[in-house]
Amino acid sequence: MQRFSIIVGDITESKVDAIVNAANTTLLGGTGVDGAIHRAAGPDLLAECRTLGGCETGKAKITAGYRLPAKYVIHTPGPIWRGGKENEAALLASCYRSCLELAAEKGLRTVDFPSISTGVYRYPLSQAASVALWAIMDFLRQHDLPEQVRMVCHTPEAANVYRQIWNMWFASTKAERMETVE
Ligand code: ADP
Repeated sequence: MQRFSIIVGDITESKVDAIVNAANTTLLGGTGVDGAIHRAAGPDLLAECRTLGGCETGKAKITAGYRLPAKYVIHTPGPIWRGGKENEAALLASCYRSCLELAAEKGLRTVDFPSISTGVYRYPLSQAASVALWAIMDFLRQHDLPEQVRMVCHTPEAANVYRQIWNMWFASTKAERMETVE
């Protein structure tokens, strides 16, 4: 099994231990992937989210997956892009790290991420992809769980951006730095 991969798909169809939701700080649903996840999971997801009291940008909270094929949903509010000088990169990295920490704590083996902040939050895709890949690889290097992480890009164009960054930064160095990653 490949430890990390980049695929094209609809994350609401992922049959994994947990999918990540690019939520907002209220955790009460929204547009984009958040709306799609709530629609697919059904109203019980919103009911559980109402008990959580929101979530800070860069942190993460976990709920059940309800009608989703995924067992759990890890909700993380990404940063809104404000030009790059408002700590956006650190906050985005923190989203990925917080989700992976929660997943590892819960003993989850398979986790799928959407491209956090790159929709209505307008984070430039190639910059978001660099942050996401560094954060994920850094975590996987140091932890045994989750066993498998996938970036689920909604379009082939987005997946190509992630793959280009992957090839640029990771593919050539994987022998020395990425022993745990295909
Ligand atoms: P944010 O508010 O964090 O920017 P969005 O939901 O607007 O969140 O967008 C985040 C990313 O999720 C975008 O790249 C968008 O194309 C993608 N996306 C939207 N729907 C889905 C889906 N069903 N599965 C996977 N990714 C999706």
